[in-house]
Amino acid sequence: MSHHIHINPDYNYRVEFRRINNPSLEFNSGQMTIVLPKGAKPDDVIQKYKSWIEQVHSSIQCALEVAKKMNLENRAQPQFRQLVWQLAEKYSVELGVNFYKIYFKKMDKKWASCGTDGNLTFNTLMKRLPENLIEYVVFHEITHRKEMNHGKYFWRIVSNKYPAHKRMEMNLFVYWLLVKGGASQD
Ligand SMILES: [Zn+2]
Repeated sequence: MSHHIHINPDYNYRVEFRRINNPSLEFNSGQMTIVLPKGAKPDDVIQKYKSWIEQVHSSIQCALEVAKKMNLENRAQPQFRQLVWQLAEKYSVELGVNFYKIYFKKMDKKWASCGTDGNLTFNTLMKRLPENLIEYVVFHEITHRKEMNHGKYFWRIVSNKYPAHKRMEMNLFVYWLLVKGGASQD
């Protein structure tokens, strides 16, 4: 069961209920999910964690303020595509996996995706990201060639290379808001 909550200025995040004891936040490819403990009535659970959710809202407002001070890169599209190809080839050798095609598309919901067919798709908006985040996104997608699900095994591979992957995902979320105009600088 999943709920959608609308927050300021214009961002929707998912709420999921799981058998856990404490609420948590998950960031993934620019999307945010609030994970709440499972209860008989989802609305009661949301009510119970209302103040926690409000804290999340205010930290997002802070993140948006930080985002206003962050700079977006002005990379040319061919240069960006070449960088992604180089990284994908490098990381596929590193992880001992292959991939087939790379597609570049403007996407509304995420930075990138990896299909079960072995094709990778990267959002053309990624060209505005700093290089370390482009590297992270490419590594994340190549890791999906080893493990499709965001399970323990997946995060073990990612955290081997990126011990601070949670911060990277959070940064991607902030950049998502920035690129999509949520923290418009003009
Ligand atoms: Zn993923």
